[in-house]
Amino acid sequence: MRIGHGYDIHRLAEGLPLRLGGVTIPHSKGCVAHSDGDVVVHALCDALLGAVAAGDIGLHFPDNAPEFKSIDSMVLLGKTMNLIKDYIISNIDITIELEVPKLRPYIDQMRAELSKALGVETSMVSVKATTTEGLGPIGRGEAVAATAVVLLN
Ligand code: MG
Repeated sequence: MRIGHGYDIHRLAEGLPLRLGGVTIPHSKGCVAHSDGDVVVHALCDALLGAVAAGDIGLHFPDNAPEFKSIDSMVLLGKTMNLIKDYIISNIDITIELEVPKLRPYIDQMRAELSKALGVETSMVSVKATTTEGLGPIGRGEAVAATAVVLLN
């Protein structure tokens, strides 16, 4: 068994799309990023890479490479899956930190999108959301962050 952990944070700015866990969330702000800025998928990729000690997302998909400009992070997740194909995903647990909007209505859609991309049962993929009680840059609505833990067999 191998365990992996991932973390990502992105700045939020007005007028950009907000993609989280492969789902577009209706909001006035979105992520400033080279890719589509999906912090959930980025944290998940880092957790998967970490589990097999294969470096991090920046090593495999550099944020200055033209081929990854505005890329759908789900494509990066697919490429990451190729790097861990000797293992079976046992389960995944993700926490998203975002002040607004409330993510409850989108959680099951994220779980469905992620489990489809990973080729696992939805019951293996947990997605949780929390605010930071108004504290710090996330609390001020300036950023969104995610952590992911994955267990591989
Ligand atoms: Mg990122």
